[in-house]
Amino acid sequence: MATTIAAERQAPGQLFIGGQWVDAQSGATFETVHPATGEPIARVAEAGEADVDAAVRAARRAFAETGARSWGGLDAADRGTLLWRIADMLERRQDELARLEVLDNGKPLREARIDIREAVDAFRYYAGWCTKLQGDTIPVRGNVLNYTLREPVGVVGAIIPWNFPLLMAAWKVAPALACANTVVLKPAEQTPLSALELAAAAQEVGLPAGVLNVVTGFGETAGAALVRHPDVDKIAFTGSTEVGRTIMREAAGTLKKVSLELGGKSPNIVFADADLDAAARGAFAAIFYNAGQACTAGSRLLVQQEIHDALLDKLVERARKLQPGDPLDPGTRLGPMVSQEQLDRVLNYIERGRAEGARVVAGGGRADYAGERRGYWVEPTIFAGVAPDHTIAREEIFGPVLAVLPFADEEQAVTLANDTIYGLAAAVWTRDLKRAHRMARRIHAGTVWVNTYHPLDAASPFGGYKQSGFGRELGASALDLYTQTKSVWIDLS
Ligand code: NAP
Ligand code: MG
Repeated sequence: MATTIAAERQAPGQLFIGGQWVDAQSGATFETVHPATGEPIARVAEAGEADVDAAVRAARRAFAETGARSWGGLDAADRGTLLWRIADMLERRQDELARLEVLDNGKPLREARIDIREAVDAFRYYAGWCTKLQGDTIPVRGNVLNYTLREPVGVVGAIIPWNFPLLMAAWKVAPALACANTVVLKPAEQTPLSALELAAAAQEVGLPAGVLNVVTGFGETAGAALVRHPDVDKIAFTGSTEVGRTIMREAAGTLKKVSLELGGKSPNIVFADADLDAAARGAFAAIFYNAGQACTAGSRLLVQQEIHDALLDKLVERARKLQPGDPLDPGTRLGPMVSQEQLDRVLNYIERGRAEGARVVAGGGRADYAGERRGYWVEPTIFAGVAPDHTIAREEIFGPVLAVLPFADEEQAVTLANDTIYGLAAAVWTRDLKRAHRMARRIHAGTVWVNTYHPLDAASPFGGYKQSGFGRELGASALDLYTQTKSVWIDLS
């Protein structure tokens, strides 16, 4: 494994601060492992508070500079060109980057390839926005000219999870840079490697020093230091609802702007009039894509009574065929959990489901890898007979565990769907056009899919209702997260 990984990497396992690769000031490092086997693959620097401070100072310097070659002094079109070049760099290295992501995260190669492609898309999409960030002229009373300027927020702290490592970095870094901010990025401790490759790409295309800084390290230390730092203007976070709460509390001290993309318990609702095969395929992908480690995972399958057993049979058959395989093999469809901690968490939920009286109809335990008990594998698991108050129907599991609940009619489907603290996504399967649009309006979620599951696009806003967070990433909406509006008044009298 060690030789494989060396071939994929361009960046050293160091911190990227002010355009330089540096060790942590303490000299500390930590290990990252390949989740399919648990084998160590690399060591990277462990940033502490002093390193985060250095990164924030570098970002501030880069933000404050005003010369023609500085970040703020660059023409918007040239800023866009740099972002486009980052996309080109990532695209040129897409095979290596996909393999690196597989090694670090454990996800199947075919899914990692999609991540890299979408990360490239995000940089291209926001490259185009650089020249389109314009203000308004406003017809106010009096003999004055009033117009608005859209200005960057300043230094952005981006804290991301391990489930789509490069993609989550791109969703924050691309719009933040497009809006002329500077960034300190802290990737998840489980998957630090692709963020370092993003820094290498930024260096390669000649992004000015300090515009993008990457500090690998732990949430409780490096992440918390970033959130507390008085010179960070905004925190953009994706991760657990619990840490999201902590971040909001901590950011209050310095009144930072905060945007949060948090967990979900998304309902996937199948009506009896749906195309049953399509719904089965969709429900399967909804929960088992990325082994369920997706914030939008369709983890609650609500099925109309008449088709409950037929749909369940189709799903069980598919789930049984889904087997662990070498994630680097392009044919593999199921990867492991990202870590031992995540494996334990998911297995605990499965036990909880059994103990509370739900019935396992597929999977239900840990899986072996290549005939051995190693790595962090979980069998694709389906629970039938789940009641709305069962823990597995309420809490985010973040693993390949599906809770199936029956419903009688549209009214009950809506009630069940909205009976959650979350509101990230939902899907509806029906052939009835009116019902599809009714449901889309009545479900409290930031994304509603009809007769499909999971599509996202750099151009379309994404984010949560309720405790799934606030602020919309992607699309034009993300520009609101990374700009502030200034109103300018000129007396013409
Ligand atoms: P997490 O702790 O919320 O991690 C997300 C990011 O926040 C990581 O970079 C993490 O660093 C950092 N972080 C943790 N504590 C912090 C703090 N006090 N201040 C600042 N940053 C902090 O998520 P997790 O522990 O990896 O996973 C736990 C559960 O969260 C999962 O089982 C799942 O339910 C949920 N989750 C949801 C999403 C999502 O996209 N909605 C993504 C990941 C996880 P470390 O890497 O060092 O922890
Ligand atoms: Mg954590």
